[in-house]
Amino acid sequence: LVEMDGDEMTRILWKMIKDELIIPFVDLKTEYYDLGLVHRDETGDQVTIDSANATKKYGVAVKCATITPNAKRMTEYNLHQMWKSPNGTIRSMLDGTVFRTPITIPSISPAVKFWKKPITIARHAYGDVYKSVDIRVEEPGVAKLVFEGESGKMEEQIVHTFKDPGVLQGMHNTDASIRSFAHACFKYALDLKQSIWFATKDTIAKKYDGRFREIFEEVFAEYKDAFEAAGIEYFYTLIDDAVARVMRSEGGFIWACKNYDGDVMSDMVSTAFGSLAMMTSVLVSPDGKYEYEAAHGTVTRHYYKHLQGEETSTNPIATIFAWSGAFRKRGEMDNIPELVNYADQLEAACFDTLNAGIVTKDLANLMEGVTPQVKNSADFIAAIRERLEKRLA
Ligand code: NAP
Ligand code: MG
Repeated sequence: LVEMDGDEMTRILWKMIKDELIIPFVDLKTEYYDLGLVHRDETGDQVTIDSANATKKYGVAVKCATITPNAKRMTEYNLHQMWKSPNGTIRSMLDGTVFRTPITIPSISPAVKFWKKPITIARHAYGDVYKSVDIRVEEPGVAKLVFEGESGKMEEQIVHTFKDPGVLQGMHNTDASIRSFAHACFKYALDLKQSIWFATKDTIAKKYDGRFREIFEEVFAEYKDAFEAAGIEYFYTLIDDAVARVMRSEGGFIWACKNYDGDVMSDMVSTAFGSLAMMTSVLVSPDGKYEYEAAHGTVTRHYYKHLQGEETSTNPIATIFAWSGAFRKRGEMDNIPELVNYADQLEAACFDTLNAGIVTKDLANLMEGVTPQVKNSADFIAAIRERLEKRLA
């Protein structure tokens, strides 16, 4: 396993999880990369690149949350440079797609009453409005969309003839990026044995969104038989129809979204399921490399309390599930059923604990029908260990 350590409160949890829940039970072999901000700065961020290359080599990684530096962090850590987001670097090196899945328990019911099973969101993280250029039009004039081919081929269309001031935007995507996204989606659907939904607005953007639909159909042809064998389906519809159907669905599927839709819908879906602290995140590359992590950040506010000697009740569940996800994948790839079983039991021990009403502070107010017992992180992890030992005995 490629192990990517991180920052602040999640770095503290990382060690507790390894010491209490992993090392006593697993003959752990990891290639360790310290992506903590101090070490990223010392290595000129080379460690991030090395860890991404290691993920390409070994195929499975588990990552702790890391600080993305801003101006405040420059002084706090006395940095040489405002290093780029490690997640961004790793994602672009692996050409990966991020899948976010909520971890659900019976005592926390989703805001949407029909949802019985988790909904995983896959966001296409390239292009569209995020790599667009725009112009503020100040006077009457003509706006054109122009393409100059290297061959000399020219294509030109009038976007709008302005009579008054307005705004103008140009955006793009590439076949290669859309194709990678489609492969990652179909691969992950087979992994989870869940159907995949994809939606665009190809009735309006006939060429632009139409291309997304075409490429998805083309790529799906390669997966069709495997989907049939797994008893899952690929479902395409219009984005507004998808939104309506998602609301009325029971969940239990993957929803692939274009970049903007994914940005907006992932915040809606994650909030509706309860808590960011209960959301996992997996980066999947088109050639089947996997990097598992929690969806939340380094929980800075809790870390500052920790530094002042206060106990914190920070939720380690998403980070534990990052490890269990990575172990399960490693076990499947290398055919080690004992490791897959350990991953299953570790998750089950987390559910045993939560279902007994033993929780961290963030969940206490969300629970219904049980009287929660709030624990600090160390005691919460100890409660999971107790149940894991019973299960593995
Ligand atoms: P955050 O670390 O996700 O925390 C925001 C707030 O959400 C926390 O203050 C806490 O609320 C709650 N929370 C999040 N995770 C929790 C957990 N496991 N248990 C309990 N409560 C939890 O986001 P942030 O404070 O905006 O960002 C902090 C740092 O993380 C930044 O430097 C950012 O760059 C980085 N970041 C990294 C990643 C990544 O590596 N994947 C992702 C996002 C952000 P209360 O304070 O109300 O308890
Ligand atoms: Mg967003």
